[in-house]
Amino acid sequence: MAYMTDILYFDNAATTAMSKQALETYVSVATNYMGNPSALHKEGLKAKALLQEKRESIAQHLGVQASTLTFTSGATEANALVLNNLIWAPQSGHAVLSNIEHPSMKEHARILRQLGWSLTFLNAPHGFVNPEDVQAALTEKTRFVGCMLVNNVVGSIQNVGTLVSLVREYQKKSNRKIHFHTDAVQALGKIPFSLTELGVDSASFSAHKFKGPQGVGLLYNIDPALQPLSRGGNQENGMRPGTENLAGIAAMGTALDEAFAHLEENSQRVEKINHFLRSELSCLPILSPSEHASPYILTISVKPLPSEVFTRMLYDRGFCVSSGSACSNNAKQKGESVLTSMLVRSDEAKSSVRLSFGYDTTFAEAESLASTIKTLYRELT
Ligand code: PMP
Repeated sequence: MAYMTDILYFDNAATTAMSKQALETYVSVATNYMGNPSALHKEGLKAKALLQEKRESIAQHLGVQASTLTFTSGATEANALVLNNLIWAPQSGHAVLSNIEHPSMKEHARILRQLGWSLTFLNAPHGFVNPEDVQAALTEKTRFVGCMLVNNVVGSIQNVGTLVSLVREYQKKSNRKIHFHTDAVQALGKIPFSLTELGVDSASFSAHKFKGPQGVGLLYNIDPALQPLSRGGNQENGMRPGTENLAGIAAMGTALDEAFAHLEENSQRVEKINHFLRSELSCLPILSPSEHASPYILTISVKPLPSEVFTRMLYDRGFCVSSGSACSNNAKQKGESVLTSMLVRSDEAKSSVRLSFGYDTTFAEAESLASTIKTLYRELT
């Protein structure tokens, strides 16, 4: 979809523009709700009621109890909330993380090691964490396992349910709690999944990936031992003190309603776009797996051209795509290291270009992208 400019936007895994309805909800709540949800007067109670209504409708979409949900400033905070519990644990232990986690998970490694934790990072050959590798990594000291549901670099869908079962079996034998967390940011509103069937202890989500506002997210948690990240008032049952971002939360709820109402049809349309691009660009290495992958992400390699050169030339022609993930200044290296841990050849990883689709990406836009990529590649090689 062409937004305010003529840009053709293929970077929806990085962020999405707020939907019209979500924006309307945001403006309406920001305009009409003046009270703090913790205040006891009428305006406060009105705000509190809306907060609860949104918590319940979001919980319904997720198939969980409303009391398991904590509103946060995004998935980075939700991931930090969970991982900081290890930092504050009275005794250090062992944690297992996939090597393809988002930096908001992986970047805790240094501090954890400083505090005496040992960490095992598991590779994900061809995009997937091997259940046997998880099994082999577990020790008597393991207290935490983290594995994302959909990878943000190539879109691979991890077999989280199986990984959780293996962890639970081990936990039964060792009689020690192991917390299983999944970062489900790239899954929500895009692929169907059930948190209760997966059996995870916690999961993180971010509104701006499904056309809600930036700076709003969600933590699902059923582990009673989880402690808050910051201290303050009793908002969010004390799990996330600080006045709630009511307009943002309400807009997230609206965006999620829309995403769930059109989940199937969106997914079928995006799948067609994905298949079309795969076939049009079959002359290039495709780094996203062809099975067990989200249709919303397609990563290709334009080797021998450096990805930043190619993405820049695509920008110049009106396309927004991404070289690696767009989460930090050194995102390219991060994306590259994720690809290397998937056993992608280094020359292909250095030339990776991520195309990511949204609910309103059209076939005509995909046709235009395919022909521009092909022409550009031919001209430059
Ligand atoms: N995890 C994944 C898989 C992501 O793609 C992102 C967004 N780039 C995040 C976490 C962080 O989300 P937020 O921007 O809400 O902090």
